[in-house]
Formats: sequence, structure tokens, C-alpha cells
Amino acid sequence: MQYPRSLEKIFSLLQKLPGVGRRTAQRYAFDMLLRWSDKNLEDLKAAIDEIKRLHLCQECGCLADEAVCLFCTNHTRRQDQLCIVSSPKEVFTLESTREYTGLYHVLSGLLSPLDGRGEERLGLAKLINRLQSGRFREVILALDSSLEGDATCLFLKEKLQHLPLNVSRLAFGIPVGSSLEFVDGGTLARALVARGSF
Ligand SMILES: [Zn+2]
Repeated sequence: MQYPRSLEKIFSLLQKLPGVGRRTAQRYAFDMLLRWSDKNLEDLKAAIDEIKRLHLCQECGCLADEAVCLFCTNHTRRQDQLCIVSSPKEVFTLESTREYTGLYHVLSGLLSPLDGRGEERLGLAKLINRLQSGRFREVILALDSSLEGDATCLFLKEKLQHLPLNVSRLAFGIPVGSSLEFVDGGTLARALVARGSF
């Protein structure tokens, strides 16, 4: 079937979104975009243009509209806690828990012993600079539970040990709402080791 060229272009662009196939793209185009008011379409266009102006916060490496992000400029947040993550997206995932009110630091990647990706991947100098300022008392490593995450945590723990900081890592455990019989052996073993009183 042949569609007007402008529609085909929209279909193929929408299909670049994760989980969107041709049928869904056609539905979005016909049921949404073609029915939207000019104002909505203009707003969408402007929002997409603004995405290009997003950049990394010069302080912590999270996404920001300005030179410094909303977290770094929010002085109601705890200024002595620093949570280390490996991508800006994870900052927002942690924020959605509403459990953390300190500051963040986004590494530029993780160590990968198998690929030979070393410490130059982490952007370590910036982190050490921040920590040497003496304003932080606690560092929380919120990195993946993977070979790369484990290697990076061990490396950072060693690098930071000479600083007067309380360094911890996110706990590993049984997923909320799951039955023990369906939890894999590795997760169960880590949950046992990291067990806590209640
Ligand atoms: Zn920031």
C-alpha cells in the first residue's frame, strides 16, 4: 500500500522508538499526530528542538538545561551525601524512589575487565576533585550488579579508602513480592550475605 511521502516519513521515524513497529507507528500517526491541534504539534516540535540543548552538568554529569543541573543547585538537598551512578538515566530512577535526598555523581562509564576498558573510562579525576573538597561525609555506590559494576565498586572502594568517607554500596536481595523458590541462587546467596536485622 502506498502512503503520501510525508506520512511514510513519520512512520519510519516513529518506528525508531523502542517497541514501536509499523502498525503502532501508523496508529500514532493517524490517531494522534493527524488529529492534534497546530498548537500541540508546534509544542512537540519545540520540545524536540530543546532536547538538543540538553547537556551534561559540569558539576555532577547529570542531564541539565543550564550549566549546572537541578540537583546540584537545590540547596535543600543533603550536601554531605554523594550517590555514584553510571548514567544520567539512573539518577532519575533513584529519584523516583523518593528515598534519597543527597547529591549525585555520574561516572562516564564502568570498568570492563573483559574488554580491557580501564579507569580512563570512569572520569575519575572529576570525582576525586569533588570528594577532596571535604564537603561529603558519605558515598553510596549505586552501580549495576554485574561484572562491570562489581569491578568498578571494588576499584572505587580502594581509590577512596584514604579519604574520610563512609562508603557503602546498594544492598542486594530478594525482589519485593517474589517467592524464595523463584529467586536465582546468586541473588539468594548475596541476600544471605547482606542479611540485616528487622
Ligand atoms: Zn549536577
